Amino acid sequence: MIIYTDSHCHITANLNKSTPVLGRICNACQESQWEQLTSLANDKNFVCLGIHPWFVNDLSAGWDKKLYTLLVKNPKLMIGEIGLDKYHPWPDIQETVFITQMELAYNLNRPVHIHCVGAWERFLHILKELGTRVPLLTVVHSFNGDVAKIPDFIKKYNMYFSFSGKQLERFDSGTAKRIQAVPNNRILIESDTETESKELSELNKALVGISKTKEISQDVLSEQIYQNFQRVTQND
Ligand SMILES: [Zn+2]
Repeated sequence: MIIYTDSHCHITANLNKSTPVLGRICNACQESQWEQLTSLANDKNFVCLGIHPWFVNDLSAGWDKKLYTLLVKNPKLMIGEIGLDKYHPWPDIQETVFITQMELAYNLNRPVHIHCVGAWERFLHILKELGTRVPLLTVVHSFNGDVAKIPDFIKKYNMYFSFSGKQLERFDSGTAKRIQAVPNNRILIESDTETESKELSELNKALVGISKTKEISQDVLSEQIYQNFQRVTQND
């Protein structure tokens, strides 16, 4: 039997109760989504609040205090989607906003869900500066980083690596190498969609592609991914 879990999506409403997706992690991009997403959180919909690097120019005064208050009130919420993106403007603001949220994650003991595109050097520099004050667990969505650094990422940052349907559809040698290099107990799949009706087909593309690349049956792989998902969402 195949079990589906979605480690990164942007579904915010109209959740179909009969979906075979057993658990999903719903990421915020902007402050305006925080209240709505918080109301979705239950034992199946795990919610992350944060500011995405594409939306750092649109912050209210006191956004960080508001985020802190919501996180304190809701101990199961995680922090995401946060990070750096070289192909979007305001790199300095991106960095400041990212660091603020990483510090919040450390102080409140919450996992972080990361978006990092073309900015791995800056990302690693910031993590190095944070020293031991890093979050207890890190999920990188649509992972496109350096294969050689994977063991270090796991050891230093308790990192998990999520792959999307789109990445597996485009499938190139870089994606194949990354999938092969990520240990089975660290791999996740994601739809990265806002539309619930597309969720299952995106997850399936990722599962089928990883199953072929790692030469593991889809049943066994989906069970392994489910266990990884549980570790990320239960924080144990
Ligand atoms: Zn996303």
